[in-house]
Amino acid sequence: MEFSLSRVSAEIEERDYDVLIIGAGAGGLSTAVYAVRSGLTALVIDKSVSGGLTAESPLVENYLGFKAIKGTDLAQKFTEHALEYVKILENTDVLSVKKDADRITAKTTLGEFTGKVLVVATGTSHKHLNVPGEKEYYAKGLSYCSTCDGYLFKDKKVVVIGGGNSGAIASISMNEYTAKTTILEYMDRYMCEDAYVRTIEKNGMDYIKNAQVLEIVGDGKKVSGVRYRDRATQEESVVSTDGVFIYVGLVPQTAFLKDSGVELSDRGYIITDNKGRTNVEGIYSAGDVTQGTEAQIATAVGDGCRVAITIYNDLIKSGRR
Ligand code: FAD
Repeated sequence: MEFSLSRVSAEIEERDYDVLIIGAGAGGLSTAVYAVRSGLTALVIDKSVSGGLTAESPLVENYLGFKAIKGTDLAQKFTEHALEYVKILENTDVLSVKKDADRITAKTTLGEFTGKVLVVATGTSHKHLNVPGEKEYYAKGLSYCSTCDGYLFKDKKVVVIGGGNSGAIASISMNEYTAKTTILEYMDRYMCEDAYVRTIEKNGMDYIKNAQVLEIVGDGKKVSGVRYRDRATQEESVVSTDGVFIYVGLVPQTAFLKDSGVELSDRGYIITDNKGRTNVEGIYSAGDVTQGTEAQIATAVGDGCRVAITIYNDLIKSGRR
C-alpha cells in the first residue's frame, strides 16, 4: 500500500461511531484495528500526526518482531496498518468529553463527534524542568526530542538532562554523530536499564550523577551551557554545550477530561479496572495515559487489544450491539 500523510488527514462526514478513539499512538491504533475487525465502526482523532510518542524513539529494540527499528518507521507501520481499517483525523484537538444518556460526545476543534463508547489513548507529554532559561532557550538549542532535533547537532556538543531509559536511549543515539554527549542525572546512580549502562560505559560517555540542574545558560540567542549543582558536594559547575535535550519524565494528557467525571490519580493518570474500563460507563482508557502503565509500546498495543475486546463484549452484554 502506498503511504502518504494526506491519506491520514481524511475528510470526515460521519459524526457518530460505535467507538470513538482519542489518540493515534500505539494504544489508540491497536484499539482501532481490533474494534473494526470485530465489526464495530470507529474513528481515531489525534491533535497531532498519527504515530504518537513511538515516533520520538530514536531506535526501538524491544518490540517483538523487530530486532531494531527506528521509532519513526515503526510509527509509520502502525499508521499504515490501522489505515487499512479506520479513518484517522489528524490535527484535531479533543477539548472535552461528556457522557449523555446513550452516547459519549467528544468536543473537538472540528466540532462534535459521538460514540456509543469512547477510548482515551492520549498518552503523555514531556515534563518540563522549570528552571531559568528553559522557556527562553526552547528551540534555540533546547529541545525535548532527539529524534526530531538531534541531527542539528552533528559534530557538536549536547547535554541530555535525565538519565532514565528515555534519556539514555536519546543520548546513545546522538552520541553516534555528536562531538560529545553528556548525561546529567539527578539521582546518585544509573537510572536506566543495564543494557544502556553497558553501552554508555563502552562508549566512554559522561554520565554525571547527583546533578541538580539550576539553569540553562546562553547569550540570549542560543544555548551555551547547563549550570548544575553536585548534590553531594554542593559545588556548582557549568557544562558547556551547543544543545540541551530534556528527558525528565512525562505527564499524562488528561486536562480535557476535567469535567467528564472520569476518575484520575493524583498525578492525572486515568484509573481503570483490569479491562481498561473507567468509572464512567462507556469510557475506557488504553496505553500510557492509564494509571499503572509500564509506558512501553508493547503494553500500549496490548491495552488496545484488551480494551477493544472488552468493548465488544460490553456492547453485546448490554444489547447495544
Ligand atoms: P502516545 O504514543 O503518546 O500517543 C498518544 C496520542 O494522543 C498522541 O499522538 C497525541 O498527539 C494524542 N493526543 C493527546 N492528547 C490529545 C487530545 N486532547 N486530543 C487529540 N489527541 C490527543 N517504548 C518502548 O517500548 N521501547 C522503546 O525503545 C521506547 N523508547 C522511547 C524513547 C523515548 C525518547 C520516549 C519519549 C518514549 C519511548 N518509549 C519506548 C515509550 C513509548 O513511546 C510509549 O510507551 C508509547 O508510545 C505509548 O503509546 P500511547 O498510544 O499510549 O501514547
